[in-house]
Amino acid sequence: MARAATRPGRRPTGRAGGGARAVGPGIEQGEKMYEGKAKIVYATSRPDLVIQYFKDDATAFNALKRGTIVGKGVVNNRMSATLLELLGRRGIPTHYVATLSEREMLCKKLDIIKIETIVRNVVAGSLAKRTGLDEGTEVRDPIVELYYKSDPLGDPMLNDEHVRMLKLASPAELAWMKRTARRINAVLRPHLHKHGLLLVDFKLEFGRAGKRLYLGDEISPDTCRLWDARTREKLDKDRFRRDLGGVEEAYQEVYRRVVEGARAS
Ligand code: 5GP
Repeated sequence: MARAATRPGRRPTGRAGGGARAVGPGIEQGEKMYEGKAKIVYATSRPDLVIQYFKDDATAFNALKRGTIVGKGVVNNRMSATLLELLGRRGIPTHYVATLSEREMLCKKLDIIKIETIVRNVVAGSLAKRTGLDEGTEVRDPIVELYYKSDPLGDPMLNDEHVRMLKLASPAELAWMKRTARRINAVLRPHLHKHGLLLVDFKLEFGRAGKRLYLGDEISPDTCRLWDARTREKLDKDRFRRDLGGVEEAYQEVYRRVVEGARAS
């Protein structure tokens, strides 16, 4: 996909110097729409497109823990672009349109469905806590879980009936999301394994544009658990969550394997 020319890493500033900033042919950057914990979303002159700007800010435990992971925004932007493009080539509809700079991605504007869809290949995190199984136990058939995307409630787990009661998604949409989450796992798991990474689990967000559903958000060490396939060393945000040290180094290692490794292969 096309890369529009911009100064790399520059934080979008709206209408700096009085003129609108062009981010693509006939596309200008607009106002800030929303600032989240890890990303800022900007409008564009096209009502169907937005810009995602990836920050270095890190939070965990529903923002009780806060910090900075230097270079994280670049890693997450580039890794998401690499993996969303791969998924697009494999027939998964995604919001990815183009990479604008080291930290900016042009995306389809989605009406985000307030469900976090999680896929698990190996027991870790809240699944270990909930079941008492040891972290690292293989899940023979990948598990798909649903959580309510709600900061005030702390993202509680949901089942299909709660989704129906809360009208978060139609039964057809939910079935599509769960099916697509498994297809995404079937693409990402072997791909990451080729680069020496075990895809333990990951979180997906989907959204609507027109009558269609798309994969949105990001795919990065913030949203995936990634372990070294041989040593099982943690190379993801758990290093930050659990104060394991070597956080920046882990993100850079994933970048080397997934982004630079993909360019080389
Ligand atoms: P767990 O339920 O074990 O805490 O998380 C499962 C997977 O989903 C992990 O890869 C974790 O990084 C991801 N995940 C779950 N909730 C969130 C969230 O609110 N934000 C982000 N970035 N990732 C999440």
